[in-house]
Amino acid sequence: MPPIIRLLMGLNFCSLSSGSSGNCYYLGNEFHGILIDAGISATSIRKFLKDMGISMQTVMGVLITHNHIDHIKGLELLTRKYSIPAFTTHKVWQSILSPQKKISTDCIRKIHLQEKFHLADFDIEAFPVCHDAPETIGFHICAGNKKITIVTDLGHICQTASQYIKVANLLVIESNYDEQMLENGGYPYYLKARIRSDHGHLGNHQTATFLADNINDDLNYICFAHLSKNNNTPELVLQTLERTFSNKGITLKGQPQISILSRNTPTEMINLNE
Ligand SMILES: [Zn+2]
Ligand SMILES: [Zn+2]
Repeated sequence: MPPIIRLLMGLNFCSLSSGSSGNCYYLGNEFHGILIDAGISATSIRKFLKDMGISMQTVMGVLITHNHIDHIKGLELLTRKYSIPAFTTHKVWQSILSPQKKISTDCIRKIHLQEKFHLADFDIEAFPVCHDAPETIGFHICAGNKKITIVTDLGHICQTASQYIKVANLLVIESNYDEQMLENGGYPYYLKARIRSDHGHLGNHQTATFLADNINDDLNYICFAHLSKNNNTPELVLQTLERTFSNKGITLKGQPQISILSRNTPTEMINLNE
């Protein structure tokens, strides 16, 4: 069967870009899709989706986590050129909207924290996470019997976020920096402190420890997201994960499947029905 046909069947997830230079994730089935964040240009989003055989017309909305540019760079054009509705909380909208930002007002949709809403074939819930923006949210998305949780920018995993993370079948979670690389690297002290703080980003050890303590049979896929260009490598993420799991007596036997999301290129589509 040609790959393009296979991609359009069932529920699929992929990352178009993940990291401080741009975040954008796609979730869709054979009928509809949604984007999570628009941190790369709308032109790149359209091109990447087209390369996978997905038309922009099937994208029913974009969910926005917070106002940092690596999450909203393409938002203006997605709303103005493609009329794609954008969903986030009142507080996040307040931090995005300004006279300079030309978001199409017809596309502004306000959602409430921890209140389910329906979009295309998806039931979606936003929940708060700790990060240094006026408000930052993660998303928990249910499609049929599959549950997807996405948390890309957070300094620590609070009780609320952990409830959504623990029930996911597919988890997209930040693993931003290797603690040693950050410590020994050339960033100024204030920046190191910001990244490490409870409102900064998750380090490899932090993420791996949380996963080792909370792993369960329902978790089929883990996608490590938002890796730092200067303070991390995919190899270090995996090494830290293996070491942390082995210290706690856990062996990974191909379940859950693990992906490290690339910073600048789309990853292979994950079919959640397989
Ligand atoms: Zn970010
Ligand atoms: Zn951020």
